Amino acid sequence: MHVTAIIAAAGAGSRLGDGTPKQFLELGGRPMVHHAIDAFRAAPRVTDLIVVTRAEAVDGLRAALGGGKPVEVIAGGATRQASVALGMDRLPAAARYVLVHDAARPFVTPDLIERVLDGAMAHGAAIAALAATDTVKRVEGARIVETVPRERVYLAQTPQGFRRDVLEAAVALGRSGVEGTDESALAERAGHAVHVVGGDEGNVKITTAGDLARARRAAGRPRALVGTGYDLHTLVEGRPLLLGGVRVPFERGALGHSDADVACHAATDAILGAAALGDIGRHFPDTDPAWQGASSTDLLARAAALVREQGYAIANLDVTIVLQRPKIAPFVEAIRAGLAAATGVPPARVSVKGKTNEGVDAVGRGEAIAAHAVALLEAGW
Ligand code: MG
Repeated sequence: MHVTAIIAAAGAGSRLGDGTPKQFLELGGRPMVHHAIDAFRAAPRVTDLIVVTRAEAVDGLRAALGGGKPVEVIAGGATRQASVALGMDRLPAAARYVLVHDAARPFVTPDLIERVLDGAMAHGAAIAALAATDTVKRVEGARIVETVPRERVYLAQTPQGFRRDVLEAAVALGRSGVEGTDESALAERAGHAVHVVGGDEGNVKITTAGDLARARRAAGRPRALVGTGYDLHTLVEGRPLLLGGVRVPFERGALGHSDADVACHAATDAILGAAALGDIGRHFPDTDPAWQGASSTDLLARAAALVREQGYAIANLDVTIVLQRPKIAPFVEAIRAGLAAATGVPPARVSVKGKTNEGVDAVGRGEAIAAHAVALLEAGW
């Protein structure tokens, strides 16, 4: 099945400063338009691309493409609608489905492209769209005239995908003088049912200087970060033994100002470490009354919240607990659940392993308990 992507990159306008059209502004070390080109080239079912750009940019963009799926670069028209129509004029005869995308959405992913294509194949036309999360008001002037039922409101993104004949009908309508703000609007006007598929919050359109600044931060940010954590507490009589917030029956427990939960402490340091946010002592000093009596699962939850605020999600957590006695195997599932609940990581991606120290050193003699942890963070928007 031949699938062609048309990338609209012919806009002249830049509200973003130096007069360079925004699709050519630097993002992550290269012009923004390349991000969308790479994503479509990486989408498994996309066969080839047509990039419609400014006439003066055609040669430079062709020269900068590098290897991969075929990309035809052509000069666009005065409007986005005219540019997409010019792209349709160059559509390969074999193309059965067409995806249209704005170059000003550089964070489109191959996953989203494939979802839209699935929708187009199922329904003839489908677009990426996000359900409205804010309450929607219709206004005249500054006065609200209606509160629109939010559950019926979606915000359209691109890609927008069409069976060839559907987009041909939409483009023909556009050529007859009808204006649409996107290809979906023209297809709707042409009488075709267009469906929405779940869009992606990260698939933002770069419109304002603030959008560009956020995008540049995101583009310069590693996709994954890894951190390690380590903790050790001595074992003494008269203390509970807590691991991942789970009370493990034993005649001794870990000594410390806090509940001395080595699994939580190592996990907390791994998470903070991955984001280079320092360590548990810096964020939750035991000299600070705010943290006295706080459980270690609370501190772990706060560390997870701190990295989320930085735009990262915790992909997985792997914790090794080293102690001579007791055997923790019967409690491993509960400890996993405790760590999962505190971090918001699904239990299936939280690993807990128990090891002895073969009788060697203080841990091996049962005088102390230690834990090692590794956390992987994934960049979100
Ligand atoms: Mg500790």
